[in-house]
Amino acid sequence: MTDYVLIGAGIMSATLGSWLRQLEPDASIVVLERLDRAAAESSDAWNNAGTGHSAYCELNYTPERDGVVDIAKAVGIASSFEVSRQLWASFVERGVLTDPSAFVRPIPHCSFTAGEADAGFLRRRYEAMRRSPLFAGMDWSTDPAVLSSWMPLMMDGRDPSVPVAATSMALGTDVNFGALTRALFAHLRTEGADLRFFQEVAAIERCDGGWCVRTEDPDTGEEAEVRARFVFIGAGGGALPLLLKSGIREGRSYGGFPVSGQWLVCRDADTIARHHAKVYGKAAVGAPPMSVPHLDTRFIDGKQALLFGPYAGFSTRFLKHGSLLDLPLSVRARNMLPMLAAGFDNLALTRYLVEQVVQSHEDRMATLKAFVPTARDEDWELLVAGQRVQVIKKDDEQGGVLEFGTEVVASSDGTLAALLGASPGASTAASIQLSVLERCFPERWASARWQDRIRELVPCHGQDLHADAEALRAARARSSALLGA
Ligand SMILES: Cc1cc2nc3c(=O)[nH]c(=O)nc-3n(C[C@H](O)[C@H](O)[C@H](O)COP(=O)(O)OP(=O)(O)OC[C@H]3O[C@@H](n4cnc5c(N)ncnc54)[C@H](O)[C@@H]3O)c2cc1C
Repeated sequence: MTDYVLIGAGIMSATLGSWLRQLEPDASIVVLERLDRAAAESSDAWNNAGTGHSAYCELNYTPERDGVVDIAKAVGIASSFEVSRQLWASFVERGVLTDPSAFVRPIPHCSFTAGEADAGFLRRRYEAMRRSPLFAGMDWSTDPAVLSSWMPLMMDGRDPSVPVAATSMALGTDVNFGALTRALFAHLRTEGADLRFFQEVAAIERCDGGWCVRTEDPDTGEEAEVRARFVFIGAGGGALPLLLKSGIREGRSYGGFPVSGQWLVCRDADTIARHHAKVYGKAAVGAPPMSVPHLDTRFIDGKQALLFGPYAGFSTRFLKHGSLLDLPLSVRARNMLPMLAAGFDNLALTRYLVEQVVQSHEDRMATLKAFVPTARDEDWELLVAGQRVQVIKKDDEQGGVLEFGTEVVASSDGTLAALLGASPGASTAASIQLSVLERCFPERWASARWQDRIRELVPCHGQDLHADAEALRAARARSSALLGA
């Protein structure tokens, strides 16, 4: 029987597999992937925004209530991202990852607003954030000349009568999660992990005190079976149907709502070269939080790129390479009520998605021009991004709620766990997988062997980086030196 079966070859399985290899060097690990390569769904660089979500620039992580900006979520995400950076840095130190510039690059993270009201919010957000060591060093300005130095492309041709404001954090990063995933799997293979492509998991059933995972080759229909002591469902958008198939009680009432994404990709080399930042704006009314518009410098396949978006869309597919039947087939007696209730509660989102779906190239360019007033239609091309499946959860009061984060669902005996949802996702994979280990293997988690090993790899493990400025300084200095970012 295999010790660990990981379903899906994205960043989540790559990260869990890497943790397990470090903690249990002799354990057997099998990875089952339906496609012909790793990281071909959401983890691929073109399918996500590559923002190392450190919460420096994403305005949706700092909601304002009655004039008070709440930074708690931003603090949590920034702390989790430091854990990811520490783990990657340790992997570089130990030769697990050989070329950090292939997956992480420094790039300033900026927030941008136009108009009096939003500038006021940005100012209050800046005042609240700069008190935390996590966001120390954040700069704020309303001076067009300063903004022109931070984001020249966005300031060119802008109406000078509209007040602008921005913050900038030099510590930001762009992450190529696809390159990172593939590098982690390449190393796992050299360490004995068995990575099997063209293996679509069709059924997961309990057997022999563990799990029997049945697969089918999507091309030939050939069937196979793997028996496992522990199963992780890291199938991205495909995780929900597999969780439901496993039949675990903890997963029965979950539903999912797919939101697709699209980018405008710049094809003009001069324009690409004039932007050097990730600049996040405010989301439109009714827009889901992950549809905050942003203009991103990216580093993909050794080249600098410029992406704007995401424009949301709707498809009943749960994966970019999935089936239109994914959504209808996920409806069961136990999750139907939560799904319907969440649908009724989110009519503004439905309206927003319908508007997004019927947009023309001109409509999309109009949104882009709020960011880049001089943008020319012919320089920008539409590209389909990854597919996200938002979590719908049963709720005693409302029947069902739609959530925009990620959620680990695990069986009470700790033999199976699934990861649902998408944001902030990849950036926080290291912490998410630590939480899987803690929930599923409580005894080993509490052991000195595991705790010492985790602390060797992530020296800030267990420390409160929001409260401990010295621990944060040491953690960042080490990660930056090893990662070059
Ligand atoms: C538009 C967009 C922008 C994003 N921006 C960011 C960002 O800036 N920063 C960030 O941190 N996160 C971002 N995310 C989220 C991030 O991409 C995800 O959190 C992350 O990639 C999820 O990784 P995963 O391994 O769970 O899933 P995936 O990378 O989707 O991998 C799942 C794998 O499982 C396989 N699979 C599915 N079903 C089966 C089956 N039945 N049998 C076998 N294999 C199966 C799939 O083929 C796939 O290879 C973004 C996502 C989107 C869509």
